[in-house]
Amino acid sequence: MEFIDLTVKKDNEGASNLPARPDQVAGKAGKGSPAQGGAGNALARTGGVVRHWSGYEYSGGEAGGATGGGRIGDRMVAKGLITIEQLNVALQEKKISGKLLGQVLVDLGFIDELTLVQFLAEQSGNEVFDPKTTIFDADALALLSKNEAKKSRVLPISMRDNVAVVALVDPYDIVAMDSLRRVLPKGTEVKCLLSTPSILSDAIDAAYGYSSVIEDILKELDSDSANPDDVTKLTDDQAYTHPIVRLVNALMTEAVKTGVSDLHFEPEENFVRLRYRLDGVLFTAQILHKKLWNGVSQRIKIMSKMNIADKLTAQDGRFNLNIGDREADFRVSSLPTVWGENIVLRVLDKSASIKPLDKLGFSPHNLELIHRSQARPEGIIIVTGPTGSGKSTSLYSMINAINRVEVNIQTLEDPVEYSLPMIRQTYVREGVLEFADGIKALLRQDPDIIFIGEIRDGVTGEMALKAAMTGHQVYTTLHTNDSFGALPRLIDLGLKPGMIAGAIIAIFAQRLVRRLCVNCKEEHVADAAECKILGVDPANPPKIFRAHQGGCQLCAGQGYKGRVAIAEILLMDEDLDEIVARGGTKTEVRRKAVEKGFKSMRDDGILKVLDGLTSLDELASAVHVYKD
Ligand SMILES: [Zn+2]
Repeated sequence: MEFIDLTVKKDNEGASNLPARPDQVAGKAGKGSPAQGGAGNALARTGGVVRHWSGYEYSGGEAGGATGGGRIGDRMVAKGLITIEQLNVALQEKKISGKLLGQVLVDLGFIDELTLVQFLAEQSGNEVFDPKTTIFDADALALLSKNEAKKSRVLPISMRDNVAVVALVDPYDIVAMDSLRRVLPKGTEVKCLLSTPSILSDAIDAAYGYSSVIEDILKELDSDSANPDDVTKLTDDQAYTHPIVRLVNALMTEAVKTGVSDLHFEPEENFVRLRYRLDGVLFTAQILHKKLWNGVSQRIKIMSKMNIADKLTAQDGRFNLNIGDREADFRVSSLPTVWGENIVLRVLDKSASIKPLDKLGFSPHNLELIHRSQARPEGIIIVTGPTGSGKSTSLYSMINAINRVEVNIQTLEDPVEYSLPMIRQTYVREGVLEFADGIKALLRQDPDIIFIGEIRDGVTGEMALKAAMTGHQVYTTLHTNDSFGALPRLIDLGLKPGMIAGAIIAIFAQRLVRRLCVNCKEEHVADAAECKILGVDPANPPKIFRAHQGGCQLCAGQGYKGRVAIAEILLMDEDLDEIVARGGTKTEVRRKAVEKGFKSMRDDGILKVLDGLTSLDELASAVHVYKD
């Protein structure tokens, strides 16, 4: 993914901030063909001829009128896009018309516009704009009027975190870049998606002709000019202008933008409630008229490749969408209820960035234990916790922390939740590639570090142990309540205590608790009961915080905003291994561990209450706060 630096400096610096056209950089240069490699710097010198690529309107071919096809034509031939005969015809035609080679090839019907753009994007390291899978952000569209967009041939798609994604025909187009520079905040990076003139023009019509704001679409649907039931017959091209399709897209965009993890469409007798799960808690986001449900549910089922005719059985499916510069995966399930199909979408934001370990809220004590675990080159690191406890986030951050060129890290995942650079990630699918077979195949790939999504059965467990005992560092997850629970769980799966002892580096357990909103949290002096839970002297009570009823604007009325992990880490050592090897109970292991300074999730949570990060109420909902 290439970014063109469009850092806007002082106003009087003018066009100097624009990505320089290679031919301007090099002065008056002969025509050349595209350079090998990236777009940001699509400039290379070969025998005194500056070869460059400049978007759709590239120069193809011959310096000094030579008859050769130039690299671009040759490469198209090599890729099998055109034949050598077609290239020769096009070069003749090019001489007569004076047009650009790509345009000539399109005019002659030898290649279609989209194929040409795909080829050019590939050559330049940009991505291709596909209006059918792109969702427009209403805020980004508002940056330019439709007329400006048409005139400068640029379509703003999204705007987030100082990165603007735009579709255009030529990333070196001064007019397009100028009009962007006028409207973008200073320091904005621009990511270009390439398009053909005709696709871009249609997309501008579509994007500006139809609202992508939820309230507006609902009003439009209310006026009933469109029949909400005909979404099944739309062609791909019609689809992105249809109000139901735009409504579904707008809802997905809003969900991904606000960081929602699940969308629940719940039909009732007279309406459909849409609830979002944010920070682990559900809240009502929209109430939709029941008449829309047929269209909306059909649209979601079409996107997820479900059977739309079947409304009586449970189904599941998935789809992905480009929402601006982020790629989001949606896992969809439908379940018939008395009032229609209930549909739940789980959002996996693949481009959500992986946070550094020290930003996840681990205590200094736990961070130290993580570093010590990761320093051991062979053995298993197990992370436990129920679904939604933040296991994956912690694991990805840990793996990313040790990701460097000298080590080969390979993963087996179901699903692949984040993509990590340099790490080979394999998607495990039931019936296609199972975890146990995957580990066998993976071990032949000479890995140093292996991440196995989950140990679900004895065979996988045994393979993981074998990998750990043959010099690999293995990361995996298990469904247990606390770290000590992992030991009997592995034995239940059929693994021998003698095998487990010595193979495990550490066992983590964690939960997520909501962070108190910093803007509206309320301070109070802990009462006697609270002091007892906190383990402090009631004669000298600390000040702690609770959520403000009704919250504030910053936390959308919740009193909490974001979440923080509370964790416990059981670092295995010889003494603990010895207890495991002779078949000792988890209580024995726990007693010994506590003796050696083990801190439980409860202990970690209490520290976070005392630090004012969360409330005792919130902690109590995640772990048992009363000591047993
Ligand atoms: Zn607040």
